[in-house]
Amino acid sequence: MLTVHWGCATDVGRVRRVNEDSLFTSPGLFAVADGMGGHAAGEVASRLVIEGLADLTGLLGPGGPQVEDLLAMVASINDRILATGRDRPDQAGLGTTLSGIAVTSIEGKAHWAVFNVGDSRVYRYSESTLRQLTVDHSAVQELIEAGEITEEDARHHPLRHVVTRSLGTDPAPEPDVALYEAVPGERFLVCSDGLTNELRDTEIAQVLQVSADPQAAAEELVRRANQAGGRDNSTVIVLDLATIDGAPPAEGS
Ligand code: MG
Repeated sequence: MLTVHWGCATDVGRVRRVNEDSLFTSPGLFAVADGMGGHAAGEVASRLVIEGLADLTGLLGPGGPQVEDLLAMVASINDRILATGRDRPDQAGLGTTLSGIAVTSIEGKAHWAVFNVGDSRVYRYSESTLRQLTVDHSAVQELIEAGEITEEDARHHPLRHVVTRSLGTDPAPEPDVALYEAVPGERFLVCSDGLTNELRDTEIAQVLQVSADPQAAAEELVRRANQAGGRDNSTVIVLDLATIDGAPPAEGS
């Protein structure tokens, strides 16, 4: 049995009036969605992601979602968002990021499937080192890769909120998916850009180091994002892999 303990927190922040982020937690799948669009459309889009994940994970077998299941989920949820945009002209153009991590079994061994569309991120914290596992689908990431700006420039760049892949587009976006073998003792962070635009990785790592309890860590990260300005909604899931004892995953807390 693979045992995962997790905690989560989300907050509207200190500037926005609506929290357009949503989060999903289940024993085998953890995800954050950061919605966008006027007239509360972002809130609707990110909620459609969570409802879609809840429906679709209920249909999965005991081995957890396979990579093809994750791809099918993204396509299916994308269709739902497009349909809502067609039915509700006032919410046309609604969209959302979707990033997360799923427990999956490959040849009997527990693995993490890390996936993202957009600029919500997944990090791994292990042996006192924080590593970003996802690559943002964003305009500033493209500028960084082109060598035109630095990561520090990106924090203040006028295009910093522009994502280059999101759900709610036709054709459907292609998520990035990467697989990692699960290792007991490792900790993961799934978060929206409201956290990472306010806190540097060194401060995030410090909180993950000090707060042993995942719920306390999640709440402290959101609190610090607000303390640093809270210019966006911030959403955090912290999950700890406690034990692996054979196959298949299930247990949670
Ligand atoms: Mg955001």
